Amino acid sequence: MSQIIHVVVPTPAHSSLSEPLSYASELPLPPGSLVRVPLGKREVCGVVWDAPGGEGTAAELKAVGGVLEGLPPLSSHWRQLVGFAAGYYQRSLGEVALAALPPQLRELDAVQLARRLKRAAAAAATPPEPQRPELMADQQAALQAIEAEAGPFLLFGATGSGKTEVYLRAVEALFARDPQAQALVLVPEINLTPQLQARFVERFGTDAVVALHSGMTHPQRLRSWIAAHAGAARIVLGTRMAVFASLPKLGLIVVDEEHDPSYKQQEGARYSARDLAVYRGHLEGVKVVLGSATPSLESWHACERGRYRCLEMPNRVGAGALPAVRVVNMNHQPRGTLFSAPLLAAIQARIARGEQSLVFLNRRGYAPVLACGACDWRSECSHCSAFRVFHKIDRTLRCHHCGYTERVPRTCPKCGNVDIAPVGRGTERLEEQLAELLADARRPDGTPVRIARMDADSTRLKGALEQQLAQVHSGEVDVLVGTQMVTKGHDFRSITLVAAVNPDGALFSSDFRAPERLFSLLMQAAGRAGRDAAHSAASEMWVQTFNPDHPLFVALKKHDFPAFAEQQLAERRQAAMPPFAFQALLRAEARTQEVAQAFLQAAANEASGLDGNGHVVVYAPVPMGVQRVANVERAQLLLESGSRPALQAFLSAWQPVLQGLRMKGLIRWAVDVDPLVV
Ligand code: ADP
Ligand code: ZN
Ligand code: ZN
Repeated sequence: MSQIIHVVVPTPAHSSLSEPLSYASELPLPPGSLVRVPLGKREVCGVVWDAPGGEGTAAELKAVGGVLEGLPPLSSHWRQLVGFAAGYYQRSLGEVALAALPPQLRELDAVQLARRLKRAAAAAATPPEPQRPELMADQQAALQAIEAEAGPFLLFGATGSGKTEVYLRAVEALFARDPQAQALVLVPEINLTPQLQARFVERFGTDAVVALHSGMTHPQRLRSWIAAHAGAARIVLGTRMAVFASLPKLGLIVVDEEHDPSYKQQEGARYSARDLAVYRGHLEGVKVVLGSATPSLESWHACERGRYRCLEMPNRVGAGALPAVRVVNMNHQPRGTLFSAPLLAAIQARIARGEQSLVFLNRRGYAPVLACGACDWRSECSHCSAFRVFHKIDRTLRCHHCGYTERVPRTCPKCGNVDIAPVGRGTERLEEQLAELLADARRPDGTPVRIARMDADSTRLKGALEQQLAQVHSGEVDVLVGTQMVTKGHDFRSITLVAAVNPDGALFSSDFRAPERLFSLLMQAAGRAGRDAAHSAASEMWVQTFNPDHPLFVALKKHDFPAFAEQQLAERRQAAMPPFAFQALLRAEARTQEVAQAFLQAAANEASGLDGNGHVVVYAPVPMGVQRVANVERAQLLLESGSRPALQAFLSAWQPVLQGLRMKGLIRWAVDVDPLVV
């Protein structure tokens, strides 16, 4: 007698197929089993799901094609995590479930699987006797709280305060309590995994730790995934995708650098791995530790509300002082100055002493905001507390919040000056200029200065980044110039000067999170300087700005994240922005801007009368900051609500409406829940 089972299959993002699909099976297959099933003309991999009764009788249904035997079923917790993510981020179950599994899994037969599982289990036999430092008082206190309380925890610790050591000890304590337990450790970037992996391997042995990230080959990913799924890998260390790792004995989740935007997936199911980690901890009754020197304002606010427990570690291990912050008022520099005289002198002094400097440029594509060169006018929106974005294509200023649009004024509306231009202009020439300005600088031995440039272009080739970093480490470079990628996590021992030469664009950005990013970036960059206690006394962080009194720089001078957070949260509360409101974006791509916006407008028109609508504000469609990419026009529409459940209810009710809208020339659309950039 065959039975009906329900299978989640890789459905397109906005499929109108109702999920899961029903199939007939000779064997009783428990939920979580991996199967091959026919779908149209293809055979696809699917996961047996715990759905309530399907339609039809087994006789009318297609039969399951095969089972991935020997593989233990995916746990009910895993299925709940996937189900939650699909629902919350408005994607199909099949898309999320199958994307969470290693691609190669589908190709294995039972014999190969059995062999791999056996190999994974055999590898787990060794954890060594490690060297461990004596804990500092703050670390001790943090660990005690993690042991004693439920969390989630926000480990708010300065760079170099010993957060990683706390993660290591928390994992040790877990393993001491439960010899089979597993830990999940998330890091924002692939670049950061080798360093952290080395420290975990040193403590727990090679076989205990596996990595999981998109830079791995398919066979490598499969090996890690199976080791985790079989319970053989005790620690999974990975980037955002690893939040979906199958860990049958999960006992602890760590999210390092929890504020980092890379935790948000920017295509497909646009999930936040940080937020899902907290959800997963809640779901599985497992403690979650989020760590950062500059927490996201969402997490900081959660501490204030008592939802997270904040554990503070303000001191650097080894008492290496944080660098002094020097703010250069660019209003007092000759017009057109890119590098101020005092900054240049400071860099030259480093070169002469044989020390290294790191100069970074913000070249990230901030949607440009216009400013007057003569007075303090900026292209603010008269209807909201947001800056309007300059759209070059039709020379308009548009508010990305409410949609308010005007032509770019010919002269400054406040003082009549004709010189109005995007904030932060002229950055292209910075690198060239620096090389010219330092052409005569000499190292202690009289040889010329060596300048290296590091950015997305210079590191595109495989291995280039590693090679450049090695050069910096070995002292072959005196001045390293780069975009913000140079600031992340690298432990440069002999850098004693870090300079941000043009950070102002982030102060006046249409992206309300830009100041938060900038502060975090500058703090992180400051953390690069003076890591070596021998140099820390002379280490400096330089900032050039036209806005020296901005609260961001005032707080930065004191290394005072709480003061900065308080000021930002007050502004956000006032303006009813996240974390005091919840947002979602509907994005559309089309052949023409008109079609993209017409789709969004049609969607907005259908909004009234939907569930939760009374608590959701639907704004007007606007072109995106980068409006045209490869001849595709892009537009977006913002939704905002004071209530997360109301927004969720609305989005669920809206989904079938969106699927029903057809428009000629429309290429694709997607919903982004809790977008990071609006
Ligand atoms: P974070 O993760 O906060 O940047 P780390 O854990 O990497 O800080 O610690 C910074 C440095 O201090 C590392 O070299 C680490 O080995 C060392 N360290 C951490 N805790 C201690 C301790 N209790 N005693 C001595 N050294 C420590
Ligand atoms: Zn003006
Ligand atoms: Zn507005």
